[in-house]
Amino acid sequence: MWIQENLDKIKERIERAAQRAGRNPREVTLVAVTKTVDVEVARQVYNAGIKTLGENRVQELQKKIPEMPADTQWHMIGHLQTNKVKYIIDKVTLLHSLDRVSLAEEISRRAIKQNLNLSALVQVNVSGEESKFGLPPGEVLDFIKTVSVLPGLTIRGLMTIAPYTTNPEEVRPFFRSLKKLAEKIQRDVAGVNMDYLSMGMTNDYEIAVEEGANIVRIGTAIFGARKY
Ligand SMILES: *Cc1c(COP(=O)(O)O)cnc(C)c1O
Repeated sequence: MWIQENLDKIKERIERAAQRAGRNPREVTLVAVTKTVDVEVARQVYNAGIKTLGENRVQELQKKIPEMPADTQWHMIGHLQTNKVKYIIDKVTLLHSLDRVSLAEEISRRAIKQNLNLSALVQVNVSGEESKFGLPPGEVLDFIKTVSVLPGLTIRGLMTIAPYTTNPEEVRPFFRSLKKLAEKIQRDVAGVNMDYLSMGMTNDYEIAVEEGANIVRIGTAIFGARKY
């Protein structure tokens, strides 16, 4: 029951944030981040109608996928080691964390072999925090020019993780600059469609939606604090 209540609250907040920005709330996809969450609980969120789930570890993904309904859409939102591409390439619908050429090349190689195509977002470190994965904003355009020609891999947009702050207003400029960067890439790189802007988590998703996010990744606000 509490999951349903949490979801209702989140959906209402997304709706209001979208309206404040003159956007259609229905263009925002809520990804439920189920990392560390038991499958039984993950099933509740699926049963409540949220069928797109995000995980950040390959091992946990591999364990959960067979235990969840077959039409669950899995997004890989965490750092991906090149040698683990093979375990998830045919299991996820969107990779949020493409951040290096070697990873793109491995995806392409495996995708060709298996005759499939993986959609990916480029992870951008908008704040320049040392602890965060992702490319510096200044390198993203050239990176996308390089990897967008690889077969078996389709670049669909950008993802960022904003710094944690007690005042989410402080991250608005980071979200705004990611949106600007996506628009620039859309203009300057032929053949690439910036369909998705994945930004916003429990702490800051309303601001992300106001600034143009169409994918928000939410864990804590749905499931409560994670126990590691
Ligand atoms: C854990 C995680 C989230 C969800 O964070 P919450 O603050 O619990 O909503 C979103 N994105 C990524 C990449 C994560 O690792």
